Amino acid sequence: MSKGWTISLSTVAIMDIANPSEEHAMLRSMIRDWVEEYVEPQAFEHDKKELFNLDLLKSMGELGLLGISAPEEYGGAGLDAAACAIVHEELSASDPGFALAYLAHSMLFVNNLAYNGNEEQKTRILPKVCSGEWIGAMAMSEPDAGTDVLGLATNAERQPDGSWKLNGRKMWITNGCLDETGTPADVVWVYARTGTDEKGRVQLSTFLVEAGTPGYSVGQKIYDKTGMRASNTAELVFDDCIVPANNLVGEPGESLIHMMCNLEIERLTLGAMSLGIARRCLAEMNQYATDRTAFGKQIRDFGQIQQHIGNSWAKYRAMRSYIYDTAANLTLGKAGHRLDSDGVKLFASTAAKEIADSAIQVLGGYGYVGEYHVERLWRDSKLLEIGGGTIESHQKNIVKDLQKHPESIND
Ligand SMILES: Cc1cc2nc3c(=O)[nH]c(=O)nc-3n(C[C@H](O)[C@H](O)[C@H](O)COP(=O)(O)OP(=O)(O)OC[C@H]3O[C@@H](n4cnc5c(N)ncnc54)[C@H](O)[C@@H]3O)c2cc1C
Repeated sequence: MSKGWTISLSTVAIMDIANPSEEHAMLRSMIRDWVEEYVEPQAFEHDKKELFNLDLLKSMGELGLLGISAPEEYGGAGLDAAACAIVHEELSASDPGFALAYLAHSMLFVNNLAYNGNEEQKTRILPKVCSGEWIGAMAMSEPDAGTDVLGLATNAERQPDGSWKLNGRKMWITNGCLDETGTPADVVWVYARTGTDEKGRVQLSTFLVEAGTPGYSVGQKIYDKTGMRASNTAELVFDDCIVPANNLVGEPGESLIHMMCNLEIERLTLGAMSLGIARRCLAEMNQYATDRTAFGKQIRDFGQIQQHIGNSWAKYRAMRSYIYDTAANLTLGKAGHRLDSDGVKLFASTAAKEIADSAIQVLGGYGYVGEYHVERLWRDSKLLEIGGGTIESHQKNIVKDLQKHPESIND
């Protein structure tokens, strides 16, 4: 080689970035088989009827996946960010709506509690949510505040006995209700305003609200969503809801720490959901392009169809590399990878939507009806540009982080 550099090819490990170890590959294979047997057969129907498959989600407790990232001592599987991405990708390749319900439980609630809760809270609640006895949700968004987190209005007042009185409404909460009769999630991770600090800044605090707490109820299940119809989305109401003192997470005013820490794995796994959608859509359009003939040829012979498939392949591979590269560098429970967790979600969500759109185009009229799957995946893909942070918020964060750390570009 020139300039005296030497590199021994034998020292370069041949590895698949999406299956960084044998254990990861085994996990992927196990969940893929399970998805084929249990998730795929129900996906079409649950989307069509806007029904959440609670029993199926609970059954993931037996697989040890409801507490995938929680420590084993509390009933979790103690796995890493790559494992979380693998499970979300595989679920979403079949049923993104169901995958979203899994994400709300395992990432937004369980992972949050595992890394931010105190010993008493983890001992009391984690075994229940890891087994599936309880289903959890996370409530940040409100009717009048989404991206503008500090604008949220739900408030909590400390009572003389140390408990907290919560008042307010939360909107768009995945798993916020568990069925058609308005049964609320068994436990919700709730962000609420508890005052202002000495500099006049809004102070947000985190509360664990359990089902049966007086004043906690479901306002409404939200129907007629574009996609993700197999997950339940609800409005929650807190009306003089008294939360015991030991259900405050951390200290008053610490919510931003919890949010920052958990948002990274949330965005990575939402990116992995986009990857699952992209992979399935690519597989569907590739097969159809072989099966379908027009003008006496397979449609895959037409240049414009090749453009859809070729571009989708390249985008899919780029998403896959970026997602699993970010997963390899992300340490659960620690903030510090916002640049890439925002980056993967920004890139992957739009790429998945574009790939799903190409799939519909390649399938023509058949692509436009539910039976051929890609229409559902296309509808589901849109949510990923909104939920867990809009693509505009990712752009804003990336630009902010690059101003602070311009060296990231050349690292
Ligand atoms: C199906 C579904 C499930 C969801 N699940 C949950 C859940 O489980 N828990 C939860 O807490 N929330 C959940 N959400 C809410 C979701 O996170 C919010 O919808 C999202 O954060 C955007 O907030 P918003 O809808 O209030 O829009 P807004 O924040 O009002 O934004 C409206 C538009 O303005 C843009 N905008 C806002 N501020 C800026 C800015 N500073 N610069 C540039 N553009 C800006 C946004 O990007 C967007 O395009 C869910 C939403 C849906 C639809």
